[in-house]
Amino acid sequence: MKTSIKQKIEYLLNCAELRRTGPRAAILAVLLGAGKPTTAEQIATKLGRAAPDKVTIYRTLENFVKAGLVHKVFLQKRTWHFEPAQNCSKTQCHPHFTCTDCGNTHCLPDIILPMAKSPHKGFLIHHQQVQLHGLCPGCNPNI
Ligand SMILES: [Zn+2]
Ligand SMILES: [Zn+2]
Repeated sequence: MKTSIKQKIEYLLNCAELRRTGPRAAILAVLLGAGKPTTAEQIATKLGRAAPDKVTIYRTLENFVKAGLVHKVFLQKRTWHFEPAQNCSKTQCHPHFTCTDCGNTHCLPDIILPMAKSPHKGFLIHHQQVQLHGLCPGCNPNI
């Protein structure tokens, strides 16, 4: 299992034409293992004492975003949440569901929504990212 994650990181960095460095590999490993959108703060916590300094984490995430390796998924409480772009198509990321009660966010990769079409002339839509709100199974009283 360990080798496969390692190989995956190697492969993803290679595709993005990014040199493999310790911090890059560590941050990517956290994002891949998280299974949901993750903040820089959560990455630092997860890496504990092995965590690179905050500036390096932010800079690395920005580099990943620029290289298309990672997506900025959404802002919550003024904090960006990041996620590997591997499950997204060029034009669409899977929807995210945020529970209005507990505040947890879930990835909903099985939902594929039709691409929005603008009724207004001149707007060219390149990318669609949908954020859903409601009650999660844990908070839904009808479940
Ligand atoms: Zn909830
Ligand atoms: Zn997601």
